[in-house]
Amino acid sequence: MRPDLFEAPDYYNLDDLLTDEHKLVRNTARSWVKKNISPIIEEYAQKSAFPEQLINGLAEVGAFGSYIPTEYGGAGLDQISYGLIMQELERGDSGIRSTASVQSSLVMGPIFNYGNEAQRKKYLPKLASGEWIGSFGLTEPNHGSNPGGMETKFKDMGDHYLLNGAKMWISNAPICNVAVVWAKNEEGRIHGLIVERGMEGFSTPETKNKWSLRASITGELIFDNVKIPKENILPNKSGLSAPLKCLDAARYGISWGAIGAAMDCYDTALRYAKERTQFGKPIGQFQLQQKKLAEMVTEITKAQLLAWRLGALKNEGKATSAQISMAKRNNVDMALKIAREARQILGAMGISGEYSIMRHAMNLESVITYEGTHDVHLLITGLDITGLNAFK
Ligand SMILES: Cc1cc2nc3c(=O)[nH]c(=O)nc-3n(C[C@H](O)[C@H](O)[C@H](O)COP(=O)(O)OP(=O)(O)OC[C@H]3O[C@@H](n4cnc5c(N)ncnc54)[C@H](O)[C@@H]3O)c2cc1C
Repeated sequence: MRPDLFEAPDYYNLDDLLTDEHKLVRNTARSWVKKNISPIIEEYAQKSAFPEQLINGLAEVGAFGSYIPTEYGGAGLDQISYGLIMQELERGDSGIRSTASVQSSLVMGPIFNYGNEAQRKKYLPKLASGEWIGSFGLTEPNHGSNPGGMETKFKDMGDHYLLNGAKMWISNAPICNVAVVWAKNEEGRIHGLIVERGMEGFSTPETKNKWSLRASITGELIFDNVKIPKENILPNKSGLSAPLKCLDAARYGISWGAIGAAMDCYDTALRYAKERTQFGKPIGQFQLQQKKLAEMVTEITKAQLLAWRLGALKNEGKATSAQISMAKRNNVDMALKIAREARQILGAMGISGEYSIMRHAMNLESVITYEGTHDVHLLITGLDITGLNAFK
């Protein structure tokens, strides 16, 4: 891959909306990505391997538990800082951002929000430092967009619970030390359970043959009569809204992350369009190429404003799930369209691993599906504005 010459577009001077702390956090993550992700990511994506050597650095830039209080090892940052870290990581690669999103919002988040003090103290510092990696098990072979139908279940055996079932498409699963797993009790109510590697009957086979998020490791979580100690149930919330609230936090991060991928594609295409000559002039001088680039920067700017405003609402505790759905859906779709257009600007070079664009495009095909598909987020907006539920 070529040297990373990335320069972030900021067409509407959005930096003026950021505090000094936001800029410091963002710039630290940006430099870290340039130094540590860019030089190796193509090789890892090509060989479909997760670069585990990045884990310590991710912890150091505050990517694990960005908004978890410092007393539990988190970075104690606000929601905009969290978003900016996700943006920078996904500028490097959506797969690396996925690892951090899952760790922060889907593992540390529920343990912090729904766990008791003993659980917080036991798990959060290890997850924040990267000593432990976590995964989040909601999706099942027969239940993706409709997780309420899940079949994974646990039974109260008196001194422990017995867990049976399977989750699939789980990020970080093959390397996780701990998994937050959603399962139904005998009454059919959904609870979160903390499952630890080494528990008998718990296995995490890797899912191979992905053309997308190749630098992120994905797998199954299989529970075959796994004995779960009673103290491993998350006591403070149950029902489907518990995992859905976790997804809100992760989806919010994705709405920023997608901007990172889009910015990288735009910046690459802009530089290429100014350097590449055909018919005796730079291709960036042709109106058709200018239209593509002008529309890209317009869409990135709109997405940046959406994410920033959502972050401000989140900091005030006012962001709704439907607002988060709108931003996730819009920004991922924007990024995927930009990746496809940017790839065309580079002609044949657009499909080469010399540049990041094709990798971003392939990654975004997962990002547009996971954490609620593009269609499902539209229906959430539809429900919110009409009051009529298309899921029933
Ligand atoms: C790389 C990767 C990593 C992932 N990581 C995780 C993870 O860490 N943890 C986890 O729990 N899950 C994870 N997932 C799973 C992901 O969240 C699901 O794939 C997603 O929720 C969609 O579920 P599905 O694939 O079963 O698709 P389905 O639900 O079967 O949907 C198929 C199609 O039908 C459409 N559809 C479904 N219902 C409706 C409806 N009511 N109206 C209109 N259209 C509808 C969908 O929009 C979609 O286009 C991951 C997925 C991928 C690809």
